[in-house]
Amino acid sequence: MRWEDFRTSSNVEDRRGMGLPGGAGGLGIGTIVILGLLGWALGIDPRILIGGAEMMTGGGSGYQQQQGRQGTPQDEMGRFASAVLGNTEDVWSTVLPQQANRQYQAPKLVLFSDATRSGCGGAQSAMGPFYCPLDQTVYIDLSFFEEMQRRFRAGGDFAYAYVLAHEVGHHVENQLGILPRVQERQQQVGRAEANQLSVRVELMADCLAGVWAHHSNQRWRSLEPGDIEEAIHAAEAIGDDRLQKQSQGRVVPDSFTHGSSEQRMRWLTTGLKAGQIQACDTFRASRL
Ligand SMILES: [Zn+2]
Repeated sequence: MRWEDFRTSSNVEDRRGMGLPGGAGGLGIGTIVILGLLGWALGIDPRILIGGAEMMTGGGSGYQQQQGRQGTPQDEMGRFASAVLGNTEDVWSTVLPQQANRQYQAPKLVLFSDATRSGCGGAQSAMGPFYCPLDQTVYIDLSFFEEMQRRFRAGGDFAYAYVLAHEVGHHVENQLGILPRVQERQQQVGRAEANQLSVRVELMADCLAGVWAHHSNQRWRSLEPGDIEEAIHAAEAIGDDRLQKQSQGRVVPDSFTHGSSEQRMRWLTTGLKAGQIQACDTFRASRL
């Protein structure tokens, strides 16, 4: 991916190396990041959803403001994250008014290492990247990308950009009013149906990441040969079925919260081809 021409975002806060009083506990960083990789694909990231209620109640009272460095990070990965976020801002601030008749309010991005505080409660690398709707912020420990490469051979800048764009996709869902409605519904239904709703939310975020890539490529010619395959490979590697097989040795469809590899690939491709928010309506789709 050609990202050197992307405008870097001014919405990045860099908390790397700041740590937390008490740290991340006894877990080594390797363990934490592997758990995070599983977490990301198994549905921990929209923590407001299933099982997230306790996080939200826990989030408010103990929430202490932690201030990181503002401005564009100097290191390569930090600059990359800032550039991709800046590009999602440029795309969505055009596309959202055009296609959904809404102004785009950009989210914040917090880079952290090991552990930090979020508006949704404590954040650890173990959780993988996630979006917190309460403070409209994406949280990521960038070592997640190294693990994608190392554990799943799912590396590459466009694959990493897809991860960030997926989280920004949750923010777009939030802006569209979808997240609050889904959350409310999830509290009224059983576990299996609540999981189904999560899958729809996740596949929509994959599709919206595709919509971003479509417009980014149209305006900045950002995609290079092999990029799409790279992101599709990442989507495939981190599908719920694949990860469940690796961790449990069997597949349990009812507990899918992100969608299977095939579904993730297909919805990412759908958004990428169409470039339309409407094409991402996983709630109306007859086939997920
Ligand atoms: Zn997600």
